[in-house]
This record gives sequence, structure tokens and C-alpha cells, in this order.
Amino acid sequence: MKTSKDLFERAQLFIPGGVNSPVRAFKSVGGTPVFFKEAKGAIMIDVDGKEYIDYIGSWGPMILGHAHPPVIEALKNAADKSTSFGTPTELETKIAELICTMMPCLDKVRMVNSGTEACMSAIRVARAYTKREKFIKFEGCYHGHADPFLIKAGSGAITLGVPNSPGVTSGTAKDTLLARYNDVNHVEQILNQNKGEVAAIILEPVAGNMGCIPPEKGFLESLRKLCDNHGAVLIFDEVMTGFRLSPGGASQRFNIQPDMVCLGKVIGGGLPVGAFGGKEEIMNMVAPLGPVYQAGTLSGNPLAMTCGYTLLKELYEHQVIFEELEEKTQYLEEGMRRVFEKFKLKVCINRVGSMLSFHFNSVNVVCFDDACAADANYFKKVFHGMLKRGVYLAPSAFETLFISRSHTKELLDRTVVALEETLQEIEA
Ligand SMILES: *Cc1c(COP(=O)(O)O)cnc(C)c1O
Repeated sequence: MKTSKDLFERAQLFIPGGVNSPVRAFKSVGGTPVFFKEAKGAIMIDVDGKEYIDYIGSWGPMILGHAHPPVIEALKNAADKSTSFGTPTELETKIAELICTMMPCLDKVRMVNSGTEACMSAIRVARAYTKREKFIKFEGCYHGHADPFLIKAGSGAITLGVPNSPGVTSGTAKDTLLARYNDVNHVEQILNQNKGEVAAIILEPVAGNMGCIPPEKGFLESLRKLCDNHGAVLIFDEVMTGFRLSPGGASQRFNIQPDMVCLGKVIGGGLPVGAFGGKEEIMNMVAPLGPVYQAGTLSGNPLAMTCGYTLLKELYEHQVIFEELEEKTQYLEEGMRRVFEKFKLKVCINRVGSMLSFHFNSVNVVCFDDACAADANYFKKVFHGMLKRGVYLAPSAFETLFISRSHTKELLDRTVVALEETLQEIEA
């Protein structure tokens, strides 16, 4: 039988780094990535038959657990009727209508194939709508891998923008302005320095790609006001928070109306789907109605729409799920907190709804610099200790744990016990 090690060696011959998305490789934690073959509910099974409690949930979509029976059944039925038409279908309208109902800040929505596409397209539309070229993003927020988002501030390069991936041109980078998360004054300063030039502010309304970092009180409200005052489009990237933090995502949870929203992850129920939407006036800019070109051969694919629609409908019809998820996550948070306190560890646990993360840091983590200052080495040890004990955390200190409805109290208790044993081993 082939082990993960065998499979990884073979994979590296034909796939760069052996993986199709970098974070799946264990680069930041060391060791060989585990190859999986099957999953059900909250449990994933690797190629050696070992079981793990899954805290990735395919990075979000498995909010009702893996292989959720209604979704799988709908998918099988849809496959019999063709895997793609390349023509309009009724199902596309049904899912668009459901999304706009669940997120009342959206009048219209366009389906794409990934969160990356959603963010890339939203920025293009915002630029066309405002007839401006620059936009503000926050350090540590992830908006997919389109060129304009792969920018990090070099020291003192806030207004110039320096690409942090080769292949991104400096011409592209100069239009991306970087701000500190949770720092309204910084945003205001950038807007004043670029008066009349900023098309949009894009952010994760709860950051989830530098661990979980909640917006501080008043942060989102202030951004809303600043966008109004400066004529910029406020874009919430809800690829992670959408249909997770509430039926209407973070905008509903915090009661802030963005002008545009990017969606992904949960929306496809595990198939490749993204979407961007917004106010009618803005979305009417999109082709074929308007001049902003945006297209996709497989956009609105019937299998993907079936999977997403079935999942969203269940979330919409059983909104108590969101309360259950929050209670479970809080239960896990409290369990972990007790264990960390027992070992007197310096750790900052952040949680919003069913998003949870811990940074090994003595300060309150409110921005990217704080997240980077955490003890990455300690995280590595915790990660491997948990992995050994059958708990699969994301292989990076900069990720959020995702809890699904399938995570029973018993599984959460087992997770806390695994954490206690892991810390005992590390501290021994
Ligand atoms: C995952 C993610 C993306 C990118 O989505 P892909 O489907 O991986 O392209 C964009 N924004 C946020 C907030 C994300 O979490």
C-alpha cells in the first residue's frame, strides 16, 4: 500500500511542490503532507486508514460536514442530466435569487469559479464604476492570487506598493495601497494622500487569513463612512465569512452595508464556485448589460450550482445551524483556553462565530504585524502533536479553524484532550 510519503514523492515529480495549492504542502510546519482518500462528517481518513478530526473543512465549504447526504444525492441526480450546458439554466437564477435574499445588501450577483475570480472581477467593476485606478487593501488580508492583491508593503513603500510575488509588475503594484487592519487613521491618511483616486476599499470583514482577527468596534462603520465621504466602493470579501458567520455573512452580523461582496467557499458546497455581487447600479456595469468584460466557460456550471444551492437552501431554511455552530465553537474555545491556562502559555485566542484561531503571542492580536510576531515554532510543535493524535489543523499558523455541524461535543472533547496531551509532551 502506498503511504503519504510515497505519494508525495511521486507527486513532486509532476506537480510543482507536489500540491495544487501551496498551503497544502507542509512547508511552514515541516514534514510530509498527509494524503487523504475519504471523508464523512467531521472525520477525514488518510491513505493509511488513519482517522482525523478535521478542522479545515476544505477551508470552509464543509460547514455541514463532508459528504453531506442531501448534497451528494442532488449532485448525483444533476450529473445524469449533463455536467455542463454552456447555456443559461433556471438553477442559476434560483441560486442568485437565494443569495440576494440571504444577503439583502446584494441586488444582483454574477457566478464565477473561485474566490480569486470573484475578487479580481469586483475590483475591475469598482474601478470602472468610479473611473479611478487605485484601491486600498489591508496587510494580511487574502483576496486570492490575482496580481493586484499579491502586494505587501516594503518598508516605507506604502504609497508605492512593492510586489511580493515575482511576476507581478511594479505597474500593477503601484495601484494597490496597503493599510493596517483595524487602523482607521491609517486608512484616512491614505485616502487623503490619494484624493479622488481611490476606487475601492476591499477587506475581509473578519480577517481569516492571518489567523482569525475580528474587526475592532467601530472599524467597519468608519470604513463605511470613509468610503461615502471619498466616493469609494466598499467591498467586503466574504469568501470565508459568507454563509458562515450568519445567513447573511459578516455584513449582516455587524449590520454594515457594503457596496459589493465577494463570495466563495461555502457557496459551492465543495465544488469550485465563487460569486461577486452588489448594488444594482454597480452590477449593471457588468457585460453584457454594461461595458465591463467578465466571462467564464464553466461559470454557473450545473453540478456546482446544484451543490451550492442545496447547501445554501438548507442553511437558509435552518438558520438555527448558525447558533449551533457558534455554541460548538465557543465550547471548543473554552476547552482550549482552560488547557492553555493550565500550562500558563502566552496565547491570544480570537473567535468570531464559528471562526477560531490561536496565536502564541502575549499581546492582543489585532493586525498582521501582531500575527507575525507570534511564536511560529511553538505552533509547529502543536500542529504535529495534534496531527499525531488524529486532529487535523491547518498546516500554518496563519489559518483559521473551521467547525462544522458534524463536530459533536464528543469530538470537541477529544480535541481538547489531544491539545492537553500535546502540550504535556512539548513542555515535558
Ligand atoms: C479563500 C479566499 C479567497 C480565494 O478563494 P479561492 O477560491 O481560493 O480562489 C479570497 N478571499 C478570501 C477571504 C478567502 O478566504
